[in-house]
Amino acid sequence: MPELPEVETVRRGLDGVLVGRTITGLEVTGRRSVRRQRPGELVERVVGRRVVLVERRGKYLALVLDDDQVLVIHLRMSGQLLSVKDPHARPRAPHTHVVMGLEDGSEVRFVDARTFGEWFVTDDVRDDGLPSFFDQLGPDPLVDGLTAPVLRERIAGKRTAIKVALTDQHVVAGIGNLYADEICYAARVLPTRRCDTLDEEEIRRIAAAARRILREAIVLRGSSLRDARYRDLMGDLGGYQTRHRAYGRAGEGCRRCGGTIERLEIGARSAYCCRGCQH
Ligand SMILES: [Zn+2]
Repeated sequence: MPELPEVETVRRGLDGVLVGRTITGLEVTGRRSVRRQRPGELVERVVGRRVVLVERRGKYLALVLDDDQVLVIHLRMSGQLLSVKDPHARPRAPHTHVVMGLEDGSEVRFVDARTFGEWFVTDDVRDDGLPSFFDQLGPDPLVDGLTAPVLRERIAGKRTAIKVALTDQHVVAGIGNLYADEICYAARVLPTRRCDTLDEEEIRRIAAAARRILREAIVLRGSSLRDARYRDLMGDLGGYQTRHRAYGRAGEGCRRCGGTIERLEIGARSAYCCRGCQH
C-alpha cells in the first residue's frame, strides 16, 4: 500500500505533468473508483478546469483547480497513477478505471486492481485552498514536521501499541504498515510497546527516525515490493526496498545485532521487528 514516500513521489511527478494544464476529458469506467458522488457529476465538475496546484497530506493527493474546487485522489491499497504522453501508442493496462485527458494530448491513467482507491471532487475547502477534511489528519511529517514534542503530544496517554498509533492517520498522517516497522526498528523500540510506557528519549528517537526514514525513502522514490504494484508516475519501480531492515524480513538476520527478525501480530496486522535490539 502506498505510504507517504510513494504518494509524495507520485505528487512530484504529477506536479510536472498537471500544473497549468486544463483537464479536457475524464472517463470513469471503474464501478467503485468514484463513490462519493455520481461519476457523471465528477466529470461535469472537473472537465474544462485547469490544475493550479498538486498538494499532498498524508496519503491523499489534492489537485487544486482554478475554480477553487479540489479533486482528491486516494490510492489506498493498490491504486497507481500513470502518465502516458502518447495514449495511442500505449494500450490501457488491465484494471484501468479512470482516465484523465489533458490539453496537450497526454493522459493520466488510474489503475487499481483491488478497487479500494477513490477519486472525488470537493468545494468544501479551508483558507489555504485544501479540503476541510484534512483538518482531521494528524501532522504530516514532511509538510508539518514531526518533532519529539509534537509526537509526545499526539500519543500522550494512549494505551495502544506505538505501531498502532503511528499508523493512525488522525495521530500522524502518511505512515502505514511498512514505514512504521522501519521507524520502530531504527528507533530500537518494539512496535508492540504501549505509547504510555515510552520515555522521552524513546519518543525523541522515534520522531527522528520517522523524519530520516521518510526523507530517505522519498529520495529513493519509495518502496516497490515483490508484487511490483507500486510504480511512480512514469511506471518505474521505487528503490527503497533495498534499505528495509525489518519489514518483510521474518526469519532473516538482524543487520544490527545478529538476532533474527520476527513477525509479530498486533490485532489484525503484522509487525516485523528484532527482540534482540528493540525493546
Ligand atoms: Zn537486532
